[in-house]
Amino acid sequence: MDLKQIINQVADIHNGFKNNLLSKIGKVSDAVIVESVRREKICTQCPLLKDLKCDTSKEIEVVADFEYYGKKFKKGDKVKGCGCNMNIKWMSTDAKCPKGAWQFPDIQIVLPQGFMNIGIANNKLIADTNDSANWKTFEASLPSNYNFIKSVNDNIVTIGTKLTDSQ
Ligand code: SF4
Repeated sequence: MDLKQIINQVADIHNGFKNNLLSKIGKVSDAVIVESVRREKICTQCPLLKDLKCDTSKEIEVVADFEYYGKKFKKGDKVKGCGCNMNIKWMSTDAKCPKGAWQFPDIQIVLPQGFMNIGIANNKLIADTNDSANWKTFEASLPSNYNFIKSVNDNIVTIGTKLTDSQ
């Protein structure tokens, strides 16, 4: 693991501690609570969960193509547990499961030609023609937790999920 990966992992642990403390006084967003319960349910089905830690002594197969702290993995690759205290990691906004089990699959939407000014508002992907003589808008509904434009390549928009911590 390089320095950037270590810094990102430390930031995730710090974020998890902060959210864990804030949750005790009702100051984290509902989205963080819902996501931590979802993650806990996934982990309780996983053979690597031991004494509320992700066991570093065992290997397991990656369940989907994904990126873990800058390193790309393919479905079927073997990885070890992360060693994290899961009570903290479940509450950490950007933390990832080392086998990719917490991932939401990205959504890709193809924009019709000529649309730009792409954004997300009110659970919709929106865009317009930016042409006052031929003004048109484009809208596509998104699942509620898809709120983050990851990339735009030609007219293909890739959308993922991103939690926000505080209320
Ligand atoms: S974080 Fe992933 S690998 Fe670790 S216990 Fe949870 S599901 Fe298993």
